[in-house]
Amino acid sequence: MADITELSSRVGTIARQLGHNRDPKVILLFLVEELGEVIRAFMKESGHKEDNARITETYREELGDVFFLLLSLAAVKDIDLEGQLERTIEKLKTRSLSDI
Ligand SMILES: [Mg+2]
Repeated sequence: MADITELSSRVGTIARQLGHNRDPKVILLFLVEELGEVIRAFMKESGHKEDNARITETYREELGDVFFLLLSLAAVKDIDLEGQLERTIEKLKTRSLSDI
């Protein structure tokens, strides 16, 4: 399995090849949209939402979409996501999840 930096670089290359919009603001909007799709799919699968034919992917699949866009944003902005994750883990050791 590739590390996060390798994955981000790979996703950045794929996004460029596919002609995706590389504006960070646009990527963030799509990221939020995909997060909404995770929630809709999770609610459907957990019985908290009526079955809807438009919800065709599982929340696990939607998490892949979220991860792609997160890595794409990191690639565009040259963000060391692995380093930021380590920072968050260290922060959580002294705070609760609601404080991050
Ligand atoms: Mg999706």
